[in-house]
Amino acid sequence: SPSEPFRNEPAPDFTKESERVAYPEALAEVRRQLGRTYPLYINGQEVTTEDLLPSLNPADPGEVVGSVCQASTREIDEAIAAANEALPAWRDLAPEDRAQYIFRAADIARKNIHTLSAWQILEVGKQWNQAHGDVAEAIDFMEYYARDMIRLGRPRRTGKAPGELTHYFYQSKGIAAVIGPWNFPLAISCGMSAASLVTGNCVLYKPAGLSSVVGHTLCQIFRDAGLPPGVFNFVPGRGSVIGDYLVDHPDIALVAFTGSLDVGLRIIERAARLQPGQEHVKKVIAEMGGKNAIIVDDDADLDEAVADIIYSAFGYQGQKCSACSRVIVLDSIYDKFMHRLTKAAQSLPIGPAEDPGNFMGPVVDKGQQDKVNAAVALAEEEGNVVLKRDDHPDTGSYAPLTIVENITPEHRLAQEEIFGPVLAVMRVKDFDQALQWANSTPYALTGAVFSRSPQHLDRARTEFRVGNLYLNRGSTGSMVERHPFGGFKLSGVGSKTGGPDYLLQFMDPRTATENT
Ligand code: GLU
Repeated sequence: SPSEPFRNEPAPDFTKESERVAYPEALAEVRRQLGRTYPLYINGQEVTTEDLLPSLNPADPGEVVGSVCQASTREIDEAIAAANEALPAWRDLAPEDRAQYIFRAADIARKNIHTLSAWQILEVGKQWNQAHGDVAEAIDFMEYYARDMIRLGRPRRTGKAPGELTHYFYQSKGIAAVIGPWNFPLAISCGMSAASLVTGNCVLYKPAGLSSVVGHTLCQIFRDAGLPPGVFNFVPGRGSVIGDYLVDHPDIALVAFTGSLDVGLRIIERAARLQPGQEHVKKVIAEMGGKNAIIVDDDADLDEAVADIIYSAFGYQGQKCSACSRVIVLDSIYDKFMHRLTKAAQSLPIGPAEDPGNFMGPVVDKGQQDKVNAAVALAEEEGNVVLKRDDHPDTGSYAPLTIVENITPEHRLAQEEIFGPVLAVMRVKDFDQALQWANSTPYALTGAVFSRSPQHLDRARTEFRVGNLYLNRGSTGSMVERHPFGGFKLSGVGSKTGGPDYLLQFMDPRTATENT
């Protein structure tokens, strides 16, 4: 309940029969709904368009999960008009009242957690637990930001001068464009949208094309939560048709984006240009890539290190910006570690995410498969490939789980984000070199160290310069409030999601001073 302190949504407990049967049931229910056409949602109305984008099951691209109507610039104009209309009332609504809508949305998502997860299993190939984690994180973002807005909305005074009364408060920026990624298709879109909404902005939400059916589930959640018309608008569309148009629009005050470095930089550049009629400087929050390293010290607990590195590198096929794509291993433990790592990676069951026995499934689509295959070819040129798992089903966009050693910081394999199950192994002589190599990329998102030396862990705290550093655990799976998430350098601009500074970015602070 909203009056209780924030708590993370629990992980699924598969020791319970009820949890185990819930998934097959939800998958069957979702299967009955496959192939539907989904409209846009503008000003509280469904809007259909002629241009349809089919979304396919990565494990079986013959299966159309759904077809989603694509916006043209005309629908963007309509959504902007609706948002402008809705803005004054929404912006001036009391923060607690806005928060109530978000709490309601969180309740709706919680009630539907299995169906919402099932959509992700079929649309983007998330394993049961990964899909559950995504929906749980979406709920956490809503519960956390709603509470945080109530905190920030409390009357605050500044200064103590006699005869003077100053109030310090926040106002929303206006209309936000939320541009989401496909890899955390509900959580990240929901987090960016909920933050925009609860701070009093109206939203135009464009999901990633590859996850636009899941994007529609977010639309349904906010719809069912009863937001006033025009406050939340669902505008899926092709980046090539509406991407620039949306970002360039003079009425957009804020762009919240999570995705690739290229697209992020393009948004930042375009948003910086003042358009005719524009009366504000646009704010861009952009969460981009990573080239995250895990250091294995010579005294590391290898039972833990191997299991956590496997999960960080290959969980959800390595398609997380937090994924471990470099493991930096100290010379004296190298052979022992590599033996265990490759044996463990060799044993992972690979196949459709729908079958909970599989650890790893196909990457999200053919395009991603091509990219990962190109990285594997590069790995064969630059290093020594010690494992390449070609033993996967023929149907589906599988990319081989690959481990490549003899990689040094000059290699492209050590510098460029792959977003797939390819792990580069780097061998170092000591902990100094490990830290140096860990920092030797333009990204600074996540990182981890396995070590039993308190001194080394302490050094890592200051010298391993990433947004999220994890000591003696893997680099993925940040939790709202416990591990506010986000990086710096080329990993992004903006403050951490699920943390105490996040909402401030969506508002402008104001003061009102009265001479009493
Ligand atoms: N927060 C997620 C994690 O810690 C990663 C988010 C992303 O890939 O964008 O694993």
